[in-house]
Amino acid sequence: MNPVRSAVSAVFFLVISFTAVPASAQVDFSGEWAPRFWEDQPERVPGPELGDYLGIPISEAARLRADAWDASIQTLPEWQCRPHSADYIWRGPSNLRISKEVDPVSREITAFHAEWLRSVDRAIYLDGRPHPPADALHTWAGFSTAKWDGDMLTVTVTHLKEGYLRRNGLPRSDKATLTEHWMRNGDILTVMTIINDPVYLTEPFVRTTDYELDLRQQVPPYPCGVVQEVDRKKGEVPNFLPGTNPYTTEFATRHKIAADATRGGADTMYPDFLAKGRTQPIARPEAPRPGEADLQVRLLPVRGNVYMLLGAGGNITVSVGRDGVLMVDAGRAQMTDQVLAAIRQLQNDLDLRDTPLGSGAETRSSVASRHTEPPAKPIRYIVNTSADPDHAGGNEKVRMAGRTFTGGNVAGNIADAGEGAAILAHENVLQRLLEPEAGEQKAPPDAQPTDTYYTDSMKLSHFFNGEGIQLIHQPSAHTQGDSLVWFRGSDVIAAGDIYSTVSYPVIDARHGGTINGVIDGLNRILDLSVAEFRTEGGTLVVPGHGRLSDSADVAYYRDMVTIIRDRVQAMIDKGMTLDQVKAARPTADYEPRYGATSGAWTTDMFVEAVYVTLGGGKKPAPKPASPPARRK
Ligand SMILES: [Zn+2]
Repeated sequence: MNPVRSAVSAVFFLVISFTAVPASAQVDFSGEWAPRFWEDQPERVPGPELGDYLGIPISEAARLRADAWDASIQTLPEWQCRPHSADYIWRGPSNLRISKEVDPVSREITAFHAEWLRSVDRAIYLDGRPHPPADALHTWAGFSTAKWDGDMLTVTVTHLKEGYLRRNGLPRSDKATLTEHWMRNGDILTVMTIINDPVYLTEPFVRTTDYELDLRQQVPPYPCGVVQEVDRKKGEVPNFLPGTNPYTTEFATRHKIAADATRGGADTMYPDFLAKGRTQPIARPEAPRPGEADLQVRLLPVRGNVYMLLGAGGNITVSVGRDGVLMVDAGRAQMTDQVLAAIRQLQNDLDLRDTPLGSGAETRSSVASRHTEPPAKPIRYIVNTSADPDHAGGNEKVRMAGRTFTGGNVAGNIADAGEGAAILAHENVLQRLLEPEAGEQKAPPDAQPTDTYYTDSMKLSHFFNGEGIQLIHQPSAHTQGDSLVWFRGSDVIAAGDIYSTVSYPVIDARHGGTINGVIDGLNRILDLSVAEFRTEGGTLVVPGHGRLSDSADVAYYRDMVTIIRDRVQAMIDKGMTLDQVKAARPTADYEPRYGATSGAWTTDMFVEAVYVTLGGGKKPAPKPASPPARRK
């Protein structure tokens, strides 16, 4: 070989190899990965034993909640097709496929997709996109972005739905965030997961899990259909009342481990625990400190032309389109200017120029518009989910900013009927506004509902912005006048204060609210909802307060409220007084998530409302003179 040419090609080869090296290291994680069960085999195949909380830095609230967990809860229709969340699924028994998305021009990897046997699509974005706003929908996979740290991929996951730390009832809250480190050494993939959960962990929970490349592997399809697995009464949620779970000590006994250690907690992870045992008393679950009052209007797209307006008091659900604006609730009175400005912005952003084709050219000219925009249509309807000032306070000003033509089947001159927006509500809302309590002012005429109903439901008599809208009365729930509002085309339900992601349900017992009505309302939302896939998405639910949700979020909330109801009912059945019930802390395991010690709706107020509306304290404790007759 010519030595000169050989040297030239060597230089050329070097140049090629250098230019082929990307600016930052990029390891290829795509491929078929098989779990090998070298570690934690019980976790990855059959599932952990009941009562085994060993070595996990759980909070007392998590411990209490896991002790109340009954495995039968998995048979509820809402949980039969639930997949593992992003943090747990690495530990599940399933094969893993990672595929990559590549930009066709730059040829950079823009995303990885991870897929397991029973999973949702989990995208991990590398294209620099931001995470969604905090109030956006949470999912099983969460929302993941990643960056390279040398050859390691570091992934940040937010927007996780509630999940579990283990398959034995140890919960992981929807306030948790997850960091992952993906590392590849030849054919071995190691993933470190670090979970931070302010509700159910006291320290970060770190796990590593290994997979091995397996070129012959397939991830098969995994269909899942919901069936009636167990014949139980509607609304029943399996759970163990505090102190009645017979399985919590089974693991310690079987393996001859100190019971204290199996109860978990950060201190059990350190060597001194072996010598000294638990030296710190287990901390009581406390409610988080209340944050700043949230009065700053924010818009969040929900679906189609339905939006959510947060920060004006109660959440406002808005339909904006060719027919004008329909609002579910009007927010607080002092927020109306901000609310109207946000809605005006939405209307201005609508593209009303392109009228759909379909009319004959003789009646609608396609050249007539000259591409100028018609003015946005006004606010036509306000629906009140209740009479509360954080939902109906803005009625008067919003009504006067709008205009509608409504009412019965009128004949003759109705020129004066088009005055302000119509206000729709259950008739008990009108009643409540007309009969204020001592210290409250009677609502001015323009703040009062113009169209009320007293039956089970009321439909708008015609489509609005392309869909039917239905008000559904939920008796004796948050108040006596609650309506759920169902956008039947967009498939969105505005729940009002029957559902919240930031507090226990507010039960206004003085105005007809009851705990069982709230539970019925939550089950009604679940009855109306259809999930898109694997128990997430599909019907979207706007809570009275808090972030956008779907039926799985409502189901978790329904479980929580039902379990607390069951506990308080059992205490009432034992003849306990309200003070005794409060001291027994029937909400302890949910306290760091939903509790409050100050503000408008404290835990004590919630427990009292549950107690009173279940009939607690009405009759003295039963004192049978002789043992009760045995029931057949
Ligand atoms: Zn409210």
